[in-house]
Amino acid sequence: MTHFDKRFTGPSGIVTLMEDLGDALNQNPEMIFMGGGNPAQIDDVEICVAEHMKNIVANPQMLHKLVGEYQPPQGDPISLKTLAKFLHEQFGWSITEKNIAISNGGQSAFFMLFNMLAGQSSHQQDKKILLPMVPDYLGYADAGLNNDMFQGLRPRIQLHEEHFFKYTIDFDSFKLDGSIAAVCLSRPTNPSGNIVTDAEIQVLTDACRRQAIPLIIDGAYGKPFPNITFAEHALNWDDNMIVVLSLSKLGLPGVRTGIVIGNENVIKKFSRATASLSLSPGNFGPTLCRSLIVSGDLSRLMQDSIKPFYQHKLQQTLAYLREKIQDLPIKIHKPEGAFFLWLWFQDLPINSQELYERLKQKGLLVVSGHHFFQPLGDDNWPHRYQCIRLSYCQPLERIEKGIDILIDEIETVYQSSGTCQRRSIEYTV
Ligand code: PLP
Repeated sequence: MTHFDKRFTGPSGIVTLMEDLGDALNQNPEMIFMGGGNPAQIDDVEICVAEHMKNIVANPQMLHKLVGEYQPPQGDPISLKTLAKFLHEQFGWSITEKNIAISNGGQSAFFMLFNMLAGQSSHQQDKKILLPMVPDYLGYADAGLNNDMFQGLRPRIQLHEEHFFKYTIDFDSFKLDGSIAAVCLSRPTNPSGNIVTDAEIQVLTDACRRQAIPLIIDGAYGKPFPNITFAEHALNWDDNMIVVLSLSKLGLPGVRTGIVIGNENVIKKFSRATASLSLSPGNFGPTLCRSLIVSGDLSRLMQDSIKPFYQHKLQQTLAYLREKIQDLPIKIHKPEGAFFLWLWFQDLPINSQELYERLKQKGLLVVSGHHFFQPLGDDNWPHRYQCIRLSYCQPLERIEKGIDILIDEIETVYQSSGTCQRRSIEYTV
């Protein structure tokens, strides 16, 4: 078996998870799906995209460019120019089209970036990507050609009022040395919905610049677009930063378009890698994105449709969940962005994978939190087995039903272990 075969065709974390979610849905179509990272179906977005597609297809020149031509490996130059202008005018980023490359989705952009920057080298020590605050996106850990390419750090846990908590970076354990090739984090974070603060980003920015390694910010849910964020924060690009964006969470995961923004050297290398791996990126995403930007529809949809849609869903989901939690020992990560709730069951008597299995039996699909802690290696921190991720993209009545199943099961779990007494319900333990 080749190294690649072993690494990419076996039952890795993300593959097993995706297959399990798919199987569960096939076996029980009634299953309440609060796992997975699919964005919600938002009518305004789909209607608007349909209009743009109609206009593109109706123009023979544009249609030919869309389907009948390979674009350069960096992506269609006109779309790159439009994107650079938009990012410069809207966010003050000092970039040109030379700072942007298109990829076939964010996931494949990470695969190329990580393996370009880290891994085995013939004349240097093997280098790693440092995730300064784990839990973070589980898709990173499986994107390395080597299976030990990532190193993750435990966060600090700040307890907030009522049921809330927030992760912060533990700068006491954050150290950069010659073994680290780049620092990477998602902002907002998948799974926790955390937005790493501006002050934390500043410390990371300064440290990476001192060490002359890039800081990679994964903006799949964040600024500049789709901007599914509910807490004040800034994102200032500089030439030591690589920002990876995606059209997926705008409601377009089927378009498979990622956008990499970096210094000219990074973009040149990235484009060469694209040429080897896929000749050129697809044309559809950049063409659609350009049309949405030029018409002003991208900004309008983000502000008037996408953010309010998720904000409303979040408020409804939180209100229902908080009413049900009462004084069960459940903490919710402050939901500052993305479309997930990250729940921590303190002193959970079973592990989160067992909880996932039990919930699946009862008709609710979630994601067990342990997947997101993989880069911690064999650190046996109990917290990594005490969390789950819930998506709130479903219709409200399904979400409420899902929360009912979750709370019932959690009560049973704590009750049968005798570790918890709920004040409002008298348990005999
Ligand atoms: N980054 C994060 C944090 C994600 O959650 C995802 C997908 O869910 C991706 C990147 C990759 O997205 P895509 O390949 O659809 O652009």
